Amino acid sequence: MKKVVVTGGAGFIGSNLVKYLIKKKYFVINIDKLSYSANPYNLKNLSKNKNYVFYKLDLNNKNKILKILKKYKPKCIFNLAAETHVDRSIDEPKNFINSNILGTYNLLEAVRNYNKKLRLVHVSTDEVYGDIIKGRSNENFPYNPSSPYSSSKASADHLIKAYIRTFKIDAVISNCSNNYGPNQFPEKLIPKLIFNIINNKPLPLYAKGKNSREWIHVMDHCEALLLIYLRGKTGENYNIGSGHNLKNTDIAKKLLKIAKHKFLKIGKKVKIKFVKDRPGHDFRYAINSSKMLKKIGWKAKINLDKGLSETFEWYLKNKNFFNSVSNKLYINRIGLKK
Ligand code: NAD
Repeated sequence: MKKVVVTGGAGFIGSNLVKYLIKKKYFVINIDKLSYSANPYNLKNLSKNKNYVFYKLDLNNKNKILKILKKYKPKCIFNLAAETHVDRSIDEPKNFINSNILGTYNLLEAVRNYNKKLRLVHVSTDEVYGDIIKGRSNENFPYNPSSPYSSSKASADHLIKAYIRTFKIDAVISNCSNNYGPNQFPEKLIPKLIFNIINNKPLPLYAKGKNSREWIHVMDHCEALLLIYLRGKTGENYNIGSGHNLKNTDIAKKLLKIAKHKFLKIGKKVKIKFVKDRPGHDFRYAINSSKMLKKIGWKAKINLDKGLSETFEWYLKNKNFFNSVSNKLYINRIGLKK
């Protein structure tokens, strides 16, 4: 049985990836420091699985990571561990430097000391390309990040490129668009709007709600990551997207429509409320994912309306997911510190 490491496997995408890889018959070693956005709820029922082991560990602990690599001899590391919320990166950039840049550096050093043939799939974001007002960015677009979050991700990507060229490690980078699906921390747009619809609260959208993002279901992303591990070429970037962009107002309207179809009682306070914009807010991200089709044989399959409806259903059926997180962590507006 092939062994693989997932870092950040207690978070949103990582926990979905851990379960997906176990289903695909991999033995998964999950390394996560359990920050505020990690949630034991995401991993419930896994502790007794014989193909799964968990280590509570910071990426910056290079020696322990090296020990784990020597013990299990995995074939691949999927690196998802990161600080991920743009608003938090505006209030506290340092956490992003520590986890996203120094954490990646320490992981690279562990790989370099262990075995350069170990494949690293580093999970990055479409935000590194910056604002894309028109068209779609392909993998040759220059990096032009706007926030402390996206610049920390861009820095990590550059370090990885340097380690590939200089030390000949085996790594690929994926640049994925905005994910939605089960297990997402409710400070992010879609679970936040669902939570507010269920709990009779206004639906806060930044500025005039016109900012546009490309939405992909997390399971499409997980499938793409496994294929990049198996078929990707060292040193390459791969954009992973659905090709479907929506304005934030469209997302809110779609979720309201789904709620009505599910015969939910919509409270009087559930209305779109425009709030002060995020400083430095990118207006639009949009990627061209045709390289994934041509070189890897992958394209996103999950229909957005169906995926959103199933996601809403998941949060309705898993109300304990919301209860398992302190609402102090996501109820108040953050990211406006000057
Ligand atoms: P998340 O915040 O839900 O999960 C991140 C996980 O990483 C948490 O469990 C946290 O405890 C862990 N972590 C953070 N710093 C760590 C450290 N120093 N050492 C060990 N563990 C640490 O985030 P997510 O949305 O699941 O994103 C996962 C990855 O995918 C990130 O690298 C992110 O940049 C990338 N990404 C996310 C999206 C998206 O839409 N969510 C899109 C593209 C790329």
